[in-house]
Amino acid sequence: MNQPAMFEKRIRRALRICWTPTLVLNLSGCLPTWAAQPIRALLVTGGCCHPYAEQAEILSKGISARAHVSWNIVNQGGTAKDSRIALYQKRDWAKGFDIVVHNECFADLADVAWVQRITTPHHAGVAAVVIHCAMHSYRDAKTDEWHKFLGVASHRHERARQFEIRTRNQLHPIMRGFPARWQPPGSDELYVIDQLMPTAEVLADAYGVETRANQACVWTNQYGRSRVFGVTAGHFNRTLEDDDYLSLVTRGFLWAVGKLGPDGNPTAGYGPKH
Ligand SMILES: [Zn+2]
Repeated sequence: MNQPAMFEKRIRRALRICWTPTLVLNLSGCLPTWAAQPIRALLVTGGCCHPYAEQAEILSKGISARAHVSWNIVNQGGTAKDSRIALYQKRDWAKGFDIVVHNECFADLADVAWVQRITTPHHAGVAAVVIHCAMHSYRDAKTDEWHKFLGVASHRHERARQFEIRTRNQLHPIMRGFPARWQPPGSDELYVIDQLMPTAEVLADAYGVETRANQACVWTNQYGRSRVFGVTAGHFNRTLEDDDYLSLVTRGFLWAVGKLGPDGNPTAGYGPKH
């Protein structure tokens, strides 16, 4: 090969090397917004007092209609209040997930080591959403760890009736779009909050006619390295199916994994996949 031909070949090779990453970068700017990796979510459900198979479908489909999520649903433990579900037998049960949605009800399980098995990955950074009877699960274990994780301690609820949830921090992105005053459709159970942890911030509450006191209903919490979003309403399916409720839970879910914008919308790439 003569000198000019060799020179031309070197130039072509150099251009090829430069061209390839440029093309990739340009293409990435044209990809649809849902091309980000989905949020890897684990929904843990099962136990007493609620139709958890139905609720798992309502929650997973409802959140997926509003955010970019891949789901793994674990419904274990039947309807007993003290099941030691197979999922938590593994020490690394939360490995591979960005967030865990706890909608389980194991109120009579009070094993301290078991509770610590559940809370350890959260303390290390796995985000969480905690719904309704999650607050009463493990409530009598002789440790504060579950309550520190939740952000609240609760041991009972008022009788199911209509009540009004009032927003306390309208500026928080989780509350963007949520009515200043909102009633669960029909009735629901108002949980009695015995203790609010110093790491928690109340976003909404409701007045309890039995306790004659305001009870936190919606809050955020910081537990170790993880963000936790909590909501106590959610006894009946009709509450979970409500558009305002599902949008609230989705914003809390996105906030917990750092994908909620200040305007209350998902950050780029984490909106629903159409
Ligand atoms: Zn309930």
